[in-house]
Amino acid sequence: MGALQLTQIVKSFGDTRVLGSVDLEVQDGEFLTLVGPSGCGKSTLLRIIAGLEAPDGGRVTLDGRDVTGLRAADRNLAMVFQSYALYPHLTVAENMVTPLRLRDLSAVERIPVAGPLISRAKRRALMEKVREVAEVLRIEPLLGRKPGQLSGGQRQRVALGRAMVREPVAFLMDEPLSNLDAALRVHMRAELSELHRRLATTFIYVTHDQSEALTMSDRIAVMMGGDILQLASPQEVYDNPSSLAVAVFIGSPR
Ligand code: ADP
Ligand code: MG
Repeated sequence: MGALQLTQIVKSFGDTRVLGSVDLEVQDGEFLTLVGPSGCGKSTLLRIIAGLEAPDGGRVTLDGRDVTGLRAADRNLAMVFQSYALYPHLTVAENMVTPLRLRDLSAVERIPVAGPLISRAKRRALMEKVREVAEVLRIEPLLGRKPGQLSGGQRQRVALGRAMVREPVAFLMDEPLSNLDAALRVHMRAELSELHRRLATTFIYVTHDQSEALTMSDRIAVMMGGDILQLASPQEVYDNPSSLAVAVFIGSPR
């Protein structure tokens, strides 16, 4: 059984059917990319996986557990956005612990005892984790800076770092490189592949960029008009596109 299973996922906005009936199984530790033209439903599908959007029908299963009705916070997935969504007034280190701290606080606040909300030991463990992640991403020297003092590539690493600190069961990324300039985008592709190898965690990646999908992924799901037209390795999709539409989109010599 895969790490993630989508069964007959259906979604409309008003009268517009955005997702047909999507079935998808993602293997544990796999780098799977949803690729397709703008408006084909990639972000909607990813948001449904994340729990940020509810499907009209169908089931989402994580590690064999039906999570369709669970809130995003209870799914232990990490979403990395193209906009980074960093808090401008907090340092890099604070940005990285914020989601954890909020979760810890909500647990602690139920205990009606005065005193520090997080124990010193807990705070030390958190900072240890932040440093460990920062080392992997090579952003240790940036921990005291504010997001406004960082380059686009550095901000993208911080956003990844914040996701990594949570130790999620899978990373969900929605066009995380699209705000970067072309050279940095190509560089970050290699970094993301390397990160995936090191973490050995499931990556579900969304892009409209065919070459990004072809270079980084174990498998790609080609989406059009709210359906997955083909799900296979990049080589297979490139060599044997399942339809003319897929061939044209991928740019295969067919
Ligand atoms: P993609 O990420 O592939 O570009 P989206 O999933 O963002 O596509 O959008 C798919 C379709 O659903 C588009 O036609 C978009 O306009 C529509 N859509 C997405 N989100 C909403 C929403 N919250 N309300 C209404 N329509 C939406
Ligand atoms: Mg999108």
